[in-house]
Amino acid sequence: MTGEFWKNKKPDEFTPEEWESVCARCGRCCLIKLQDEQDDAIYYTRIICRYFNDSNCSCSEYANRCRLVPECIKLSPDNWNQIGWMPQDCAYRILAEYGDLPEWHPLKTGKPLEETRSVKNKTVSEKDIPEEEWEDYILEGGENDL
Ligand code: SF4
Ligand code: SF4
Repeated sequence: MTGEFWKNKKPDEFTPEEWESVCARCGRCCLIKLQDEQDDAIYYTRIICRYFNDSNCSCSEYANRCRLVPECIKLSPDNWNQIGWMPQDCAYRILAEYGDLPEWHPLKTGKPLEETRSVKNKTVSEKDIPEEEWEDYILEGGENDL
């Protein structure tokens, strides 16, 4: 990776390594979301996908994620700016909206993402919560409540 490639190239020109490096590893896209049947509104919960590994804030089944979890959408340069529910602080979303990464991003700081900006140690696994109770875990202020 060379320089600030995200400013000098279009996403479809990123190498696979560059594309992956844009993910800040915040984990917010792995939170379980509920959709209101009346108005289609999306609500984030503090429940996280069963395959999320909290110790390193990443997917434990990354290569198989879309097969194991059909709702798990593989982000690519073809769809990255079309997914309305992506978290407000998702680095891909910020790049799509502002053409740059935020100052806190690991590619700018040279360090892993600060824990305060991730979901680490702040969620419960979907394995531990019966589905009929998921509504009780809605984040009233949205995903940035974590
Ligand atoms: S399968 Fe992996 S990437 Fe997909 S939501 Fe679950 S933890 Fe996240
Ligand atoms: S919300 Fe965006 S930056 Fe955060 S883990 Fe998901 S893809 Fe990566």
